[in-house]
Amino acid sequence: KKLGIALVGLGGYSKGQLAPALQQAQNCYLAGIVTGTPQKATDWAQQYNIPQKNIYNYQNFDSIANNPDIDIVYIVLPVFMHKEYTIRAAKAGKHVICEKPMALNARDCEEMIAACKKANRMLSIGYRLHFEPHTIEVMRLGQKQVFGKLTALENANGFTYRGDPNAWRLKKAMSGGGALMDMGIYAIQGARYTTGLEPIAVKATQEKTRPDFFKEVDETIFWELEFPGGLKTKGKSSYNNNWGYLKAEAEHGYFELEPAYGYGPILGKSTNGAIDFPQINQQAAQMDDFAKCVATNKPTRVPGEEGMKDMRVIDAIYRSLDSGKWEKITV
Ligand code: NAD
Repeated sequence: KKLGIALVGLGGYSKGQLAPALQQAQNCYLAGIVTGTPQKATDWAQQYNIPQKNIYNYQNFDSIANNPDIDIVYIVLPVFMHKEYTIRAAKAGKHVICEKPMALNARDCEEMIAACKKANRMLSIGYRLHFEPHTIEVMRLGQKQVFGKLTALENANGFTYRGDPNAWRLKKAMSGGGALMDMGIYAIQGARYTTGLEPIAVKATQEKTRPDFFKEVDETIFWELEFPGGLKTKGKSSYNNNWGYLKAEAEHGYFELEPAYGYGPILGKSTNGAIDFPQINQQAAQMDDFAKCVATNKPTRVPGEEGMKDMRVIDAIYRSLDSGKWEKITV
């Protein structure tokens, strides 16, 4: 039986990626929606054949508890709402997928993990790349030291942000931060999954070329992560540069992905030539895997803890920007 997913928040990512991906999924389907906009409820119901009883708004959301059609609630809201809706979904007895970045800070992530644990529900973060074949190969090349020990690693992600100056992404209270939270998190992920290690300290600097536009949030941040064993990796995030790569050098060779973090195609090469795997629908693979984990009661490879570890790094990067010093990444 396919498990039913309800998308909470029908913005760009739900509409452009998740709903279409759910049409291809094997283990789950788009069973319900949660929206504050009546017109969207009507349009989505029609387009995706969603019954009225599976349509919720933010006021009656908690009554989703009584709906057996919904197994999994997928939180696709602005960051400041992730914690509240994850906790409410778990209390309603639903398994949860929460989009990245998991929350405004690591402390909130801890609460979300605890709430899901208490409700005995599974929690996953929308880290689609863990299901992407080229990315999985890079994890293997790095973690198994196929070209020997890593000697250098650089991860960069960003795009040139234009558009609505009032968007939630530019408001610190709603986003928690700028390009680092939104894009840099992929570069942090890249460093963590290529090394297979948890960084212990970070030093960061930032640059703003459009301070009037990025009044409240970061535009471009550069950082160095220190890993156990001494490797220092470089990372950068931006709302003012189109970046998207992962470049690793090891004792006996190199490997890289570019583009490394988009919806696809993901392209890679190494000392041995092209890193060539099928291009897949990442979101379908991600949701199918979680549905399977729920159905078989197996742990997901991207649990809440994975989101929390990234938020600990991000918290430390912001501390380093304030202090101008190396900051420990606290557990
Ligand atoms: P968006 O602004 O397009 O959509 C957000 C939705 O939340 C909108 O439909 C909006 O109406 C709704 N909303 C409900 N209450 C709101 C409130 N109080 N204030 C503002 N909006 C409110 O954003 P998005 O790009 O769809 O991003 C949503 C989440 O998905 C974010 O966490 C983002 O980081 C994540 N995301 C992930 C990926 C990925 O590849 N994994 C890609 C894009 C976005």
